Amino acid sequence: MKPSIVLLGTGGPRPDTARGATSLLIQAGEDNILIDAGRGVVRQLASLGVNLARINPVLITHHHYDHIGELHDVMLSSWLLGRAEPLRLFGPPETRRIVDTLLHQVYDKDIEFRVHESLNHPWQPVETTDILSGLVCETPNWRVTAEIVDHGNRLEFPEAFKQRWVCLGYRFECADGVIAFSGDTVDCPGLRRLAVNADILVHCCYLARAEINTPQMQRLADYTLACADTVGHIATETNVGTLVLTHHRQKSDAMLEQMRQDVVNDFTGPVLLGHDGLRVGL
Ligand SMILES: [Zn+2]
Repeated sequence: MKPSIVLLGTGGPRPDTARGATSLLIQAGEDNILIDAGRGVVRQLASLGVNLARINPVLITHHHYDHIGELHDVMLSSWLLGRAEPLRLFGPPETRRIVDTLLHQVYDKDIEFRVHESLNHPWQPVETTDILSGLVCETPNWRVTAEIVDHGNRLEFPEAFKQRWVCLGYRFECADGVIAFSGDTVDCPGLRRLAVNADILVHCCYLARAEINTPQMQRLADYTLACADTVGHIATETNVGTLVLTHHRQKSDAMLEQMRQDVVNDFTGPVLLGHDGLRVGL
């Protein structure tokens, strides 16, 4: 069977009863690649019948809490449900620090409790690698590369913070085609590289054009998260096949459809509004 993606969460940081926070699953043969682990990801995987013990690897785009808020749950629940090998985890610099903090300072007692509670249940470690752009991981059947994207990086943060704020997008390639995931970003060279000629581009799209109606929202659309004024242009200029929108701010169904129309005006290929549980195959 050809690889497919499942949108596990299509919302943002604001609590949304209709959407989890942004997470994506790529299923390729026996492999389940999880990108990000925000609010609701474990529950969504369970409801889709995905065996959490078979999630491996996990790729993190960046360290906003709507992308890593349930990372502890993925690491611990996958083990609780029988993960029999180390969980390989990749993300931008300081991912390892975050994982180590969770495992050694927050949930260390929980892990020790469960190890001793069940005599035949040794801890399966998490092997974390901090990465920048380039090859992330590969098997004989597929490879994943990363690109650095621009998610607020031109805002006036203190220089020391800017050095630490690295955000990634990912590109999955196999014999059946290419799937790209923008992560959180505005248009930038890294995004273009990961999206070019992708059969499926999953792209953040936070606001419809009509919602970009205050200086603050304009600033957000220009510097932080791509919106309906740019996503269609990006897809056209990078020659993608199907465009899948995700990371939506809460809005009415009418405004959602308007956002899709904004994008359709700039891109002639199929444009799918994201919703939790949406599956798209190569
Ligand atoms: Zn973010």
